[in-house]
Amino acid sequence: MNKITNHMPTAELQAIDAAHHMHPFTANHELAAKGARVITRASGVTLTDSEGEQILDAMAGLWCVNIGYGRDELAEVAARQMKELPYYNTFFMSTHVPAIALAQKLAELAPGDLNHVFFASGGSEANDTNIRMVRRYWDQMGKPNKHVIISRKNAYHGTSVGSGSLGGMAGMHAQGGMPIPDIVHIGQPYWYLEGGDMSPEDFGLMRARELEAKIEELGEDRVAAFIAEPIQGAGGVIIPPDSYWPEIKRICAAHDILLIADEVITGFGRTGEWFGSQYYDIQPDIMTVAKGLSSGYAPIGASLVSDKVAKVIDSGEFAHGYTYSGHPVAAAVALENLRIMEEEKIVDHVQNEAAPYLAEKWHSLADHPFVGETTIVGMMASLALTADKSVRKPFKAPAGTVGYKTRERCFANNLIMRHVGDRMIVAPPLVMQKSDIDTLYERAVKSLDEAY
Ligand code: PLP
Repeated sequence: MNKITNHMPTAELQAIDAAHHMHPFTANHELAAKGARVITRASGVTLTDSEGEQILDAMAGLWCVNIGYGRDELAEVAARQMKELPYYNTFFMSTHVPAIALAQKLAELAPGDLNHVFFASGGSEANDTNIRMVRRYWDQMGKPNKHVIISRKNAYHGTSVGSGSLGGMAGMHAQGGMPIPDIVHIGQPYWYLEGGDMSPEDFGLMRARELEAKIEELGEDRVAAFIAEPIQGAGGVIIPPDSYWPEIKRICAAHDILLIADEVITGFGRTGEWFGSQYYDIQPDIMTVAKGLSSGYAPIGASLVSDKVAKVIDSGEFAHGYTYSGHPVAAAVALENLRIMEEEKIVDHVQNEAAPYLAEKWHSLADHPFVGETTIVGMMASLALTADKSVRKPFKAPAGTVGYKTRERCFANNLIMRHVGDRMIVAPPLVMQKSDIDTLYERAVKSLDEAY
């Protein structure tokens, strides 16, 4: 059998890939016919493929490579940690320095009293932790019926059975017995498609009040928590109207239910603040983080837990944990990533330079005849494709075909953009410079022109 290397012909790599590798969220039958693009290396904001093409990654991988590719410091820290202590667990009264140091750093960075950290290998696992933690919290508080978690349609919270149930992706639920019991979904604050004749602000209030109506329908004594992404990412970068979060905050406080902010995408500078909760001035009881925590250099996620919740959970043994909770190499890499973010003032760069420039360019895409709206917060942006700008509607069925075609044109033009139905999305590395944003814009315009 041949050794597989970067130097093999692309077609050969693609054939072996199609024969043996089942890809996530991919129509795997297409792999044999089309072949996956083989990425061989990356530096800064640019990927290189097996044909030597230079591709601008406007998705930061999967919304995660916040500090950009090819940072030697992270490779060196990982190698050093692997030599010193490649693995040890944090179960049964053991700990190690990378987990201690990262937990302390996260407690310092996170807003308010999120002073306690439960590690996981990624966002899905962290949200599974959250399901168990909030139910355990209310059990310990003497309220064992308070187990229902309210989430939102079209939310994404991960792909395990628990986190996929928290998510509100109908297509996922249809494939595998989700949602699990005691998870219910309310409407999302997606004004452009669902707001009808209402103003964005009235619509935002209306959608927030669905939470109150659901709590009243179920009974306050049954509802444990509400979970939401400050800005829905995978659902299409749905930026809520300004009225939404203040009302959600009021409702959670009024009904004594815990608020879980899923900041797997919005954490670590993406919104121009360290966390989306700061952007919206919310103080969650639990925050989910992953992705940008290590800029994707190592798989790691965490639940950041408030004093109030941790005090109750820590009063006994929480029968929960992952082999890789606080993995020393992943923790050391994450810590170095955060050090670099602080040293290079990456959050300031987003807020004062990259995001305002991206916003200017992004909004000018609204001049295109097939772009219905452009929205952006920090370095996460989306646009709606439509055949008729005068009505807020996507292209006619089959839904998503125009988005898919636009994404394919971007791919051909060496720009990674994602589509969700007929919405196009970018979430570039936070270190993007103005010249990269110019390239992003030029390739986006060309791709939009070619798609129709
Ligand atoms: N939560 C949100 C908001 C996400 O966007 C994601 C992944 O995209 C997850 C959770 C799941 O994280 P992971 O893929 O690391 O399990």
